[in-house]
Amino acid sequence: MKKLYVLGTGQLGRMLRQAGEPLGIAIYLLSADSKIEITIENRSLITAEIEHWPDTQFTKKLAVNDSFINRDVFPIVSDRLFQKQFLDRLNLVTVPWKPLLSSSQWDEIFSLLGTLVVVKQRTGGYDGKSQWRLCSHSLSLLPNKFYDNAIVEKTINFIDEISLIGARGYNGKIIFYPLTYNFHQDGILRASVVLRDVNSLQKELEDMLACIMNQLNYIGIMTMECFVTKKGIFINELAPRVHNSGHWTQNGASINQFEMHLRAILDFPMPPPIIYMPAVMLNLIGININIDWLNDPIIHLHWYNKEVYSHRKVGHLNVVSDDPMKISIALSRLESILPPTYAKSISWLQKKLSRDKN
Ligand code: ATP
Ligand code: MG
Repeated sequence: MKKLYVLGTGQLGRMLRQAGEPLGIAIYLLSADSKIEITIENRSLITAEIEHWPDTQFTKKLAVNDSFINRDVFPIVSDRLFQKQFLDRLNLVTVPWKPLLSSSQWDEIFSLLGTLVVVKQRTGGYDGKSQWRLCSHSLSLLPNKFYDNAIVEKTINFIDEISLIGARGYNGKIIFYPLTYNFHQDGILRASVVLRDVNSLQKELEDMLACIMNQLNYIGIMTMECFVTKKGIFINELAPRVHNSGHWTQNGASINQFEMHLRAILDFPMPPPIIYMPAVMLNLIGININIDWLNDPIIHLHWYNKEVYSHRKVGHLNVVSDDPMKISIALSRLESILPPTYAKSISWLQKKLSRDKN
């Protein structure tokens, strides 16, 4: 059996491992301080479920290991400064930004980016962590360590947040999933939905992501998060990996994003998947498991078996049916057994689904 290693031990790695089972692929999750020796001679491959990791003996070796797929892409995409510079070079429109070098820049930054800005640490942030929303009166809230280690962005007043997931094979062929609408609260993804109506933005986004993946000679799944505004699309960020906004594919696509990533890096066939729509994903955050979620046959639970604590993603529910009405009813039932904090996400999903009902 071919061996495949995943750098990172979180739920994305776990779901990659699950997707490897039916393909007969043994997948091992590795932490950054792993002691394992991986050589090209034993035909093992390495991928990652995270884009940023500490410098350890193991990761230093990985950085020069030819079996590590996309090895040279991670340093570019995992650093917001390098990622922004890369997208600028490709003339792709991202949220207007500036590197944050020192406190003497603030006047210039506010006049260029507006009165409310978002400061993001260059590396290591996720779920809205290591980000600050600032105006000229709140600058003292920003810890000093962010200077010379962050970028500043304009605050975008978006209509929608969307993401596109693509998978590129060794032959350069790329398959795309339908674009996904995403709902965040406090920087954390709460819910995603894929609708049947073919969105006119799909092609525009595909061209952008194809340009990025081709330029990087990237293999596997990459995700592009975007803001939709009255003035057009702005790229928010890229993720060089499987992504939370693609979890719906586990029940809404004939080949899910985890399997597609494995197929791409293993050079297996990558036919465009059949999509079952509409499909909904609801993140379970800081909540204990409740088997009552399973009373509806169109609701699928994916539980990560992680210790439950506040604000932690511990699982997700996928709801898929070709009848949006059935999804809507399932969501109403869920709402009655979930804590009140889920009401906003469910009402956002219901509103999106109502567009798809006719
Ligand atoms: P992820 O969990 O996707 O890794 P992250 O922590 O890396 O997220 P971002 O995607 O940059 O961070 O930000 C999280 C969320 O915060 C976004 O999905 C969006 O809702 C909001 N956000 C980020 N940047 C901006 C911005 N410039 N203007 C408006 N909202 C923003
Ligand atoms: Mg994001």
